[in-house]
Amino acid sequence: MKLETIAVHAGGEPDPATGALAPPIHLSTTFEHGPAGEQPHGYMYIREGSPTETRLEEALAAIEGGEAALVYSSGMAAGAAYLATLPAGAHVLFADDIYYGFRQMAADFLTRWSIAASAVDMADLDAVRRGIRRETQLVWAESPSNPLMKVVDLAALAKIAKDAGARFAVDGTFATPVLQRPLSLGADVVMHAATKYLGGHSDVQGGALVFARRSDAFEKAQHVRHILGGVLSPFNSWLVLRGLRSLVCRVERHSANALAVARALAAHSAVEVVHYPGLASHPGHEIAKRQMSGFGGMLSFRVKGGRDQAVAVCSKVRIFTTATSLGGTESLIEHRASSEGPTSQTPQNLLRCSIGLEHADDLIEDLRQALG
Ligand SMILES: *Cc1c(COP(=O)(O)O)cnc(C)c1O
Repeated sequence: MKLETIAVHAGGEPDPATGALAPPIHLSTTFEHGPAGEQPHGYMYIREGSPTETRLEEALAAIEGGEAALVYSSGMAAGAAYLATLPAGAHVLFADDIYYGFRQMAADFLTRWSIAASAVDMADLDAVRRGIRRETQLVWAESPSNPLMKVVDLAALAKIAKDAGARFAVDGTFATPVLQRPLSLGADVVMHAATKYLGGHSDVQGGALVFARRSDAFEKAQHVRHILGGVLSPFNSWLVLRGLRSLVCRVERHSANALAVARALAAHSAVEVVHYPGLASHPGHEIAKRQMSGFGGMLSFRVKGGRDQAVAVCSKVRIFTTATSLGGTESLIEHRASSEGPTSQTPQNLLRCSIGLEHADDLIEDLRQALG
Protein backbone atom coordinates (compact mmCIF):
# COMPACT_ATOMS: atom_id res chain seq x y z
CA MET A 1 0.00 0.00 0.00
CA LYS A 2 1.21 3.52 -0.74
CA LEU A 3 2.16 5.97 2.00
CA GLU A 4 -0.73 8.36 1.24
CA THR A 5 -3.22 5.56 1.91
CA ILE A 6 -1.43 4.29 5.01
CA ALA A 7 -1.25 7.80 6.49
CA VAL A 8 -5.01 8.25 6.12
CA HIS A 9 -6.02 4.86 7.51
CA ALA A 10 -3.36 3.46 9.87
CA GLY A 11 -4.61 3.18 13.45
CA GLY A 12 -8.00 4.48 12.28
CA GLU A 13 -10.33 1.53 12.51
CA PRO A 14 -13.84 2.61 13.61
CA ASP A 15 -14.47 2.43 17.35
CA PRO A 16 -15.72 -1.14 17.94
CA ALA A 17 -18.15 0.03 20.66
CA THR A 18 -19.92 2.79 18.70
CA GLY A 19 -18.77 2.74 15.08
CA ALA A 20 -17.40 6.29 15.47
CA LEU A 21 -14.94 7.08 12.66
CA ALA A 22 -12.97 9.72 14.56
CA PRO A 23 -10.97 7.75 17.12
CA PRO A 24 -12.21 8.02 20.69
CA ILE A 25 -9.95 9.79 23.20
CA HIS A 26 -9.82 7.39 26.12
CA LEU A 27 -8.95 9.53 29.11
CA SER A 28 -9.15 6.72 31.63
CA THR A 29 -6.03 6.30 33.71
CA THR A 30 -6.99 2.82 34.83
CA PHE A 31 -8.56 -0.23 33.21
CA GLU A 32 -10.65 -2.95 34.78
CA HIS A 33 -8.64 -6.09 35.26
CA GLY A 34 -9.44 -9.61 36.37
CA PRO A 35 -9.38 -10.79 40.00
CA ALA A 36 -5.72 -11.80 39.71
CA GLY A 37 -4.61 -8.88 37.53
CA GLU A 38 -5.55 -10.47 34.18
CA GLN A 39 -5.78 -7.86 31.41
CA PRO A 40 -8.64 -8.92 29.12
CA HIS A 41 -8.36 -5.67 27.12
CA GLY A 42 -4.57 -5.42 27.21
CA TYR A 43 -4.41 -2.35 29.45
CA MET A 44 -3.81 -1.85 33.16
CA TYR A 45 -2.61 1.65 34.01
CA ILE A 46 -2.08 4.63 31.71
CA ARG A 47 1.67 4.92 32.27
CA GLU A 48 2.10 1.44 30.77
CA GLY A 49 0.05 2.25 27.68
CA SER A 50 -3.44 3.40 26.70
CA PRO A 51 -5.76 2.84 23.73
CA THR A 52 -5.39 6.23 21.98
CA GLU A 53 -1.62 6.00 22.37
CA THR A 54 -1.69 2.49 20.89
CA ARG A 55 -3.53 3.75 17.81
CA LEU A 56 -0.87 6.39 17.25
CA GLU A 57 1.92 3.86 17.71
CA GLU A 58 0.35 1.49 15.21
CA ALA A 59 -0.02 4.33 12.74
CA LEU A 60 3.59 5.50 13.15
CA ALA A 61 5.00 1.99 12.78
CA ALA A 62 2.99 1.54 9.57
CA ILE A 63 3.98 4.94 8.17
CA GLU A 64 7.71 4.44 8.85
CA GLY A 65 7.72 0.78 7.84
CA GLY A 66 8.87 -0.38 11.29
CA GLU A 67 7.79 -3.31 13.43
CA ALA A 68 6.89 -1.20 16.43
CA ALA A 69 6.73 2.37 17.71
CA LEU A 70 6.73 4.09 21.09
CA VAL A 71 5.48 7.61 21.73
CA TYR A 72 6.65 9.97 24.45
CA SER A 73 5.74 13.31 25.96
CA SER A 74 8.25 15.19 23.75
CA GLY A 75 10.94 14.64 21.18
CA MET A 76 13.55 15.03 23.91
CA ALA A 77 11.79 12.42 26.09
CA ALA A 78 11.86 10.01 23.13
CA GLY A 79 15.54 10.62 22.47
CA ALA A 80 16.41 10.38 26.17
CA ALA A 81 14.54 7.09 26.48
CA TYR A 82 16.52 5.65 23.60
CA LEU A 83 19.85 6.83 25.03
CA ALA A 84 18.83 5.40 28.40
CA THR A 85 18.69 1.93 26.85
CA LEU A 86 22.51 1.99 26.65
CA PRO A 87 24.55 0.37 29.42
CA ALA A 88 27.06 2.30 31.53
CA GLY A 89 30.43 2.35 29.81
CA ALA A 90 28.96 2.66 26.31
CA HIS A 91 30.05 5.32 23.85
CA VAL A 92 27.72 7.25 21.53
CA LEU A 93 28.96 8.87 18.34
CA PHE A 94 26.82 11.90 17.50
CA ALA A 95 26.79 14.02 14.37
CA ASP A 96 28.45 17.35 15.11
CA ASP A 97 25.39 19.50 14.44
CA ILE A 98 22.63 17.49 16.07
CA TYR A 99 19.68 19.27 17.65
CA TYR A 100 21.15 21.43 20.41
CA GLY A 101 19.03 19.71 23.08
CA PHE A 102 20.84 16.43 22.49
CA ARG A 103 24.20 18.16 22.67
CA GLN A 104 23.10 19.53 26.01
CA MET A 105 21.80 16.12 27.10
CA ALA A 106 25.19 14.60 26.33
CA ALA A 107 26.97 17.27 28.38
CA ASP A 108 24.58 17.37 31.34
CA PHE A 109 23.33 13.78 31.65
CA LEU A 110 25.19 11.15 29.63
CA THR A 111 28.36 11.64 31.65
CA ARG A 112 26.34 11.15 34.85
CA TRP A 113 25.03 7.89 33.41
CA SER A 114 28.65 6.91 32.66
CA ILE A 115 28.01 7.02 28.92
CA ALA A 116 30.72 8.64 26.82
CA ALA A 117 29.82 10.79 23.84
CA SER A 118 31.74 12.46 21.04
CA ALA A 119 30.78 14.21 17.83
CA VAL A 120 32.05 14.14 14.26
CA ASP A 121 31.12 15.68 10.93
CA MET A 122 29.13 12.79 9.46
CA ALA A 123 29.43 14.15 5.94
CA ASP A 124 33.00 12.84 6.27
CA LEU A 125 32.65 9.04 6.41
CA ASP A 126 36.34 8.53 7.24
CA ALA A 127 35.91 10.81 10.23
CA VAL A 128 33.00 8.60 11.29
CA ARG A 129 35.13 5.45 10.97
CA ARG A 130 37.89 7.11 12.98
CA GLY A 131 35.37 8.26 15.58
CA ILE A 132 34.18 4.72 16.31
CA ARG A 133 35.61 3.25 19.51
CA ARG A 134 35.60 -0.27 20.88
CA GLU A 135 32.80 0.79 23.27
CA THR A 136 30.71 2.50 20.59
CA GLN A 137 27.21 1.08 20.82
CA LEU A 138 25.26 3.80 19.05
CA VAL A 139 25.75 6.09 16.07
CA TRP A 140 23.26 8.97 16.06
CA ALA A 141 22.69 11.04 12.93
CA GLU A 142 20.28 13.79 12.00
CA SER A 143 19.50 14.54 8.36
CA PRO A 144 18.77 17.17 7.29
CA SER A 145 20.22 18.70 10.44
CA ASN A 146 19.04 21.57 12.56
CA PRO A 147 19.84 24.36 11.76
CA LEU A 148 22.59 23.97 9.14
CA MET A 149 20.56 21.59 6.95
CA LYS A 150 23.49 19.19 6.59
CA VAL A 151 22.60 16.04 4.69
CA VAL A 152 24.46 12.83 5.47
CA ASP A 153 24.52 9.48 3.68
CA LEU A 154 22.27 7.36 5.90
CA ALA A 155 22.86 4.05 4.06
CA ALA A 156 26.65 4.48 4.32
CA LEU A 157 26.43 5.42 8.00
CA ALA A 158 24.17 2.43 8.71
CA LYS A 159 26.80 0.15 7.22
CA ILE A 160 29.64 1.69 9.21
CA ALA A 161 27.62 1.35 12.42
CA LYS A 162 26.66 -2.24 11.63
CA ASP A 163 30.25 -3.22 10.82
CA ALA A 164 31.26 -1.78 14.20
CA GLY A 165 28.52 -3.73 15.99
CA ALA A 166 26.74 -0.49 16.93
CA ARG A 167 23.12 0.53 16.51
CA PHE A 168 22.22 3.35 14.13
CA ALA A 169 19.61 5.96 15.08
CA VAL A 170 18.35 8.81 12.94
CA ASP A 171 16.55 11.96 14.08
CA GLY A 172 14.18 12.28 11.13
CA THR A 173 12.21 15.26 12.41
CA PHE A 174 13.01 17.63 9.52
CA ALA A 175 12.47 15.10 6.74
CA THR A 176 9.37 13.35 8.13
CA PRO A 177 8.54 9.82 6.94
CA VAL A 178 7.05 11.37 3.83
CA LEU A 179 10.42 12.38 2.41
CA GLN A 180 12.87 9.94 3.98
CA ARG A 181 12.64 6.38 5.28
CA PRO A 182 15.71 5.74 7.45
CA LEU A 183 14.64 2.22 8.40
CA SER A 184 14.69 1.21 4.73
CA LEU A 185 18.25 2.58 4.53
CA GLY A 186 19.44 0.39 7.40
CA ALA A 187 18.69 2.43 10.55
CA ASP A 188 17.62 0.53 13.66
CA VAL A 189 15.45 3.33 14.95
CA VAL A 190 14.09 6.65 13.74
CA MET A 191 13.23 9.41 16.18
CA HIS A 192 10.73 12.19 15.58
CA ALA A 193 9.78 15.31 17.45
CA ALA A 194 6.05 14.85 16.77
CA THR A 195 5.76 18.44 18.01
CA LYS A 196 6.83 19.50 14.54
CA TYR A 197 5.48 18.13 11.24
CA LEU A 198 3.67 15.05 12.56
CA GLY A 199 1.40 17.16 14.77
CA GLY A 200 1.73 19.90 12.18
CA HIS A 201 -0.30 22.71 13.74
CA SER A 202 1.94 24.10 16.50
CA ASP A 203 -0.47 22.87 19.16
CA VAL A 204 0.87 19.60 20.52
CA GLN A 205 4.14 18.33 21.98
CA GLY A 206 5.17 14.72 21.49
CA GLY A 207 7.98 12.44 20.46
CA ALA A 208 8.29 9.05 18.82
CA LEU A 209 10.70 6.20 18.32
CA VAL A 210 9.98 3.81 15.46
CA PHE A 211 11.92 0.55 15.53
CA ALA A 212 12.92 -1.57 12.54
CA ARG A 213 12.48 -4.62 14.77
CA ARG A 214 10.70 -5.32 18.03
CA SER A 215 14.15 -5.67 19.54
CA ASP A 216 15.67 -5.69 22.96
CA ALA A 217 16.16 -1.91 22.56
CA PHE A 218 12.40 -1.58 22.00
CA GLU A 219 11.68 -3.47 25.23
CA LYS A 220 14.16 -1.31 27.12
CA ALA A 221 12.83 1.98 25.70
CA GLN A 222 9.32 0.88 26.68
CA HIS A 223 10.54 0.10 30.18
CA VAL A 224 12.16 3.56 30.39
CA ARG A 225 8.82 5.19 29.58
CA HIS A 226 6.93 2.99 32.01
CA ILE A 227 9.29 3.69 34.91
CA LEU A 228 10.59 7.20 34.18
CA GLY A 229 7.14 8.26 33.04
CA GLY A 230 7.55 10.35 29.88
CA VAL A 231 4.19 9.23 28.46
CA LEU A 232 2.15 11.00 25.81
CA SER A 233 -1.30 11.97 27.07
CA PRO A 234 -4.43 10.59 25.36
CA PHE A 235 -5.36 14.01 24.00
CA ASN A 236 -1.88 14.65 22.64
CA SER A 237 -1.84 11.15 21.11
CA TRP A 238 -5.11 12.02 19.42
CA LEU A 239 -3.80 15.35 18.10
CA VAL A 240 -0.69 13.75 16.60
CA LEU A 241 -2.81 10.96 15.08
CA ARG A 242 -5.05 13.59 13.54
CA GLY A 243 -2.00 15.40 12.19
CA LEU A 244 -0.81 12.24 10.44
CA ARG A 245 -3.96 12.15 8.31
CA SER A 246 -2.89 15.23 6.34
CA LEU A 247 0.88 14.78 6.70
CA VAL A 248 1.62 13.82 3.11
CA CYS A 249 -0.30 16.76 1.60
CA ARG A 250 1.17 19.22 4.07
CA VAL A 251 4.75 18.10 3.56
CA GLU A 252 4.38 18.31 -0.22
CA ARG A 253 3.20 21.92 0.03
CA HIS A 254 5.81 22.82 2.68
CA SER A 255 8.48 21.43 0.35
CA ALA A 256 7.24 23.21 -2.78
CA ASN A 257 7.04 26.52 -0.92
CA ALA A 258 10.47 26.08 0.67
CA LEU A 259 12.08 25.37 -2.71
CA ALA A 260 10.54 28.54 -4.16
CA VAL A 261 11.66 30.62 -1.15
CA ALA A 262 15.17 29.09 -1.21
CA ARG A 263 15.59 29.96 -4.89
CA ALA A 264 14.40 33.53 -4.33
CA LEU A 265 16.72 33.99 -1.35
CA ALA A 266 19.68 32.54 -3.26
CA ALA A 267 19.15 35.22 -5.92
CA HIS A 268 18.96 38.08 -3.39
CA SER A 269 21.95 40.40 -3.08
CA ALA A 270 21.67 40.73 0.73
CA VAL A 271 21.94 36.96 1.24
CA GLU A 272 25.35 35.34 1.72
CA VAL A 273 24.29 31.70 1.40
CA VAL A 274 21.12 29.60 1.56
CA HIS A 275 21.20 26.20 3.25
CA TYR A 276 18.55 24.10 1.53
CA PRO A 277 19.17 20.58 0.24
CA GLY A 278 16.96 21.19 -2.77
CA LEU A 279 19.42 23.72 -4.22
CA ALA A 280 22.05 22.29 -6.58
CA SER A 281 24.61 24.45 -4.71
CA HIS A 282 23.99 22.57 -1.42
CA PRO A 283 26.91 20.22 -0.62
CA GLY A 284 24.49 17.40 0.24
CA HIS A 285 22.24 17.87 -2.79
CA GLU A 286 23.23 14.65 -4.59
CA ILE A 287 22.79 12.53 -1.46
CA ALA A 288 19.48 14.26 -0.71
CA LYS A 289 18.24 13.48 -4.23
CA ARG A 290 19.14 9.83 -3.64
CA GLN A 291 17.73 9.30 -0.16
CA MET A 292 14.84 11.78 -0.02
CA SER A 293 11.77 12.07 -2.21
CA GLY A 294 11.60 15.84 -1.61
CA PHE A 295 13.62 18.41 0.31
CA GLY A 296 11.29 19.53 3.09
CA GLY A 297 9.95 22.75 4.52
CA MET A 298 12.99 23.87 6.52
CA LEU A 299 15.76 26.14 5.34
CA SER A 300 18.27 28.51 6.81
CA PHE A 301 20.23 31.36 5.31
CA ARG A 302 22.99 33.72 6.25
CA VAL A 303 22.51 37.43 5.84
CA LYS A 304 25.44 39.49 4.56
CA GLY A 305 26.96 41.38 7.47
CA GLY A 306 26.54 39.89 10.93
CA ARG A 307 24.20 39.47 13.84
CA ASP A 308 22.68 42.95 13.59
CA GLN A 309 21.78 42.60 9.91
CA ALA A 310 20.19 39.20 10.58
CA VAL A 311 18.20 40.43 13.58
CA ALA A 312 17.03 43.44 11.53
CA VAL A 313 15.39 41.08 9.03
CA CYS A 314 13.46 39.44 11.88
CA SER A 315 12.25 42.85 13.03
CA LYS A 316 10.77 43.67 9.61
CA VAL A 317 8.86 40.53 8.59
CA ARG A 318 5.05 40.82 8.44
CA ILE A 319 3.77 37.42 7.35
CA PHE A 320 6.53 35.34 8.95
CA THR A 321 6.31 35.26 12.73
CA THR A 322 9.50 35.42 14.77
CA ALA A 323 9.21 32.24 16.77
CA THR A 324 11.09 29.02 17.38
CA SER A 325 9.86 25.51 16.54
CA LEU A 326 8.75 24.36 13.12
CA GLY A 327 6.42 22.22 11.08
CA GLY A 328 3.21 24.20 11.65
CA THR A 329 0.94 25.69 9.01
CA GLU A 330 2.33 29.22 9.57
CA SER A 331 5.77 30.40 8.45
CA LEU A 332 8.29 31.13 11.20
CA ILE A 333 11.67 32.83 11.22
CA GLU A 334 14.21 32.99 14.01
CA HIS A 335 17.69 34.17 14.81
CA ARG A 336 18.77 30.68 15.76
CA ALA A 337 21.85 31.55 17.82
CA SER A 338 19.66 33.65 20.12
CA SER A 339 17.15 30.79 20.53
CA GLU A 340 19.87 28.25 21.30
CA GLY A 341 21.49 30.45 23.92
CA PRO A 342 25.06 30.61 25.18
CA THR A 343 26.04 27.06 24.13
CA SER A 344 25.04 27.72 20.52
CA GLN A 345 27.50 26.90 17.71
CA THR A 346 25.26 28.50 15.09
CA PRO A 347 26.65 31.37 13.00
CA GLN A 348 25.43 34.75 14.26
CA ASN A 349 24.17 35.85 10.82
CA LEU A 350 22.02 32.74 10.35
CA LEU A 351 18.23 32.84 10.22
CA ARG A 352 16.21 29.63 10.29
CA CYS A 353 12.84 29.44 8.55
CA SER A 354 10.02 26.98 8.86
CA ILE A 355 8.17 27.52 5.61
CA GLY A 356 4.42 27.21 6.12
CA LEU A 357 1.43 26.59 3.92
CA GLU A 358 0.81 30.18 2.78
CA HIS A 359 1.30 31.08 -0.89
CA ALA A 360 5.00 31.08 -1.79
CA ASP A 361 4.68 34.45 -3.58
CA ASP A 362 3.54 36.15 -0.37
CA LEU A 363 6.38 34.59 1.62
CA ILE A 364 8.98 35.63 -0.93
CA GLU A 365 7.59 39.17 -1.05
CA ASP A 366 7.70 39.37 2.74
CA LEU A 367 11.34 38.28 2.93
CA ARG A 368 12.30 40.66 0.09
CA GLN A 369 10.84 43.69 1.86
CA ALA A 370 12.46 42.61 5.15
CA LEU A 371 15.88 42.16 3.51
CA GLY A 372 15.51 45.71 2.10
C1 LIG B 1 12.28 20.01 18.18
C2 LIG B 1 13.28 18.98 17.88
C3 LIG B 1 13.61 18.01 18.82
C4 LIG B 1 13.04 17.99 20.22
O1 LIG B 1 11.64 17.83 20.23
P1 LIG B 1 10.76 18.41 21.47
O2 LIG B 1 9.38 17.93 21.20
O3 LIG B 1 10.92 19.90 21.45
O4 LIG B 1 11.33 17.83 22.71
C5 LIG B 1 14.54 17.05 18.45
N1 LIG B 1 15.11 17.04 17.24
C6 LIG B 1 14.82 17.97 16.31
C7 LIG B 1 15.49 17.92 14.99
C8 LIG B 1 13.90 18.97 16.60
O5 LIG B 1 13.62 19.90 15.68
